[in-house]
Amino acid sequence: MKRFMLLVFLFTITKISIGQYSILTKSEAKAGNAFTVVEEPSIYKDRVALNKIAQANIQIVYEDPGEWILEHTDALDEAVNIWSHLLKDNTQIVINVKWSDSLSGATLAETKTYLRNNFANAPKNNFHYAKAFAKQKDAGLNDGSKDMRITFNKAKRDSNLFSFDLDGIPIKDKYDFVTLALHEMAHGLGFTSSMTKSSSNGDFGELGIPTNTAQKYPKIYDEYLKHDNNYLINIARPSYELGQQLTSNNVYYDGTKTKKVNNNSAPKIYAPSAWKSGSSIGHFDETAFPEGDPNSLLTPFLSAAEVIRNPGYLVLGVLEDIGWNVERQITTISPKPGEEIMRGSSYTIKCMIILM
Ligand SMILES: [Zn+2]
Repeated sequence: MKRFMLLVFLFTITKISIGQYSILTKSEAKAGNAFTVVEEPSIYKDRVALNKIAQANIQIVYEDPGEWILEHTDALDEAVNIWSHLLKDNTQIVINVKWSDSLSGATLAETKTYLRNNFANAPKNNFHYAKAFAKQKDAGLNDGSKDMRITFNKAKRDSNLFSFDLDGIPIKDKYDFVTLALHEMAHGLGFTSSMTKSSSNGDFGELGIPTNTAQKYPKIYDEYLKHDNNYLINIARPSYELGQQLTSNNVYYDGTKTKKVNNNSAPKIYAPSAWKSGSSIGHFDETAFPEGDPNSLLTPFLSAAEVIRNPGYLVLGVLEDIGWNVERQITTISPKPGEEIMRGSSYTIKCMIILM
């Protein structure tokens, strides 16, 4: 008798069809162990089966090469490889990295994102874009200089508080370095805000680079920040009103692409009642996206034993809103890893494809 295998593909297509110095964004250590894993995106994990190759060209420059042993560079490369499979643009992105013992106690890492405004082919003028993105539009900016600088906490490394594990296994009392690097790289790609608060006043904008240096421009990420029905960039700056909204615990990211992959709902932004420089507004809300949540990479805190190897569809939505071309994510729901399928039996393969 002739046997054949019946494969039923059920595509669960989410309906969503589916001063001015650049502010440094930082990641802080959170007490306790999470023991959670968010796996790599299929497009990377199953890259051989899917016949996917890296499209983005990301180069790492070690400012202190003597400080980096193979274990560290392998972990950094893992983060680079994941991003390289998710970004479709292929201009070289240059990431400078270094270890520093001058970061404050809880800080695991911080990132400086280099900016450009009003460049050739800019999607919108009078906004700052990450230089990493601006180069994709204006080849004249592709001069080999760094697009972001990530500084990692050397004291934490020397206290053996990082795990450089590549297999995605949460390790007690250790912060996952690949997760941290993935997070910081997202800031350097443009997941970064210019909103600030000092005393009671909120403000935004950074001075023009390299021209119009007396004029302040918001970052393109800022365009979609919304409180109730108001976009924050439409509020007078500096102002008490803006200051109140920045610490209202009620700010959402209203980008079209982001909402499209989130059932038309704007995800919550971290806007705690006490302003936290480097953390407030430039991250997703910690409580709304707790440990283990598929969109928890870009929250401001990282727990020990919290492994996140996937930026998540909301971060990719934000990057699309600010202009990047990203790969669609394919998530296999069943079969689960290691699940055996009998030859000759019928089986339903469930995938989720996020259509942008
Ligand atoms: Zn961050």
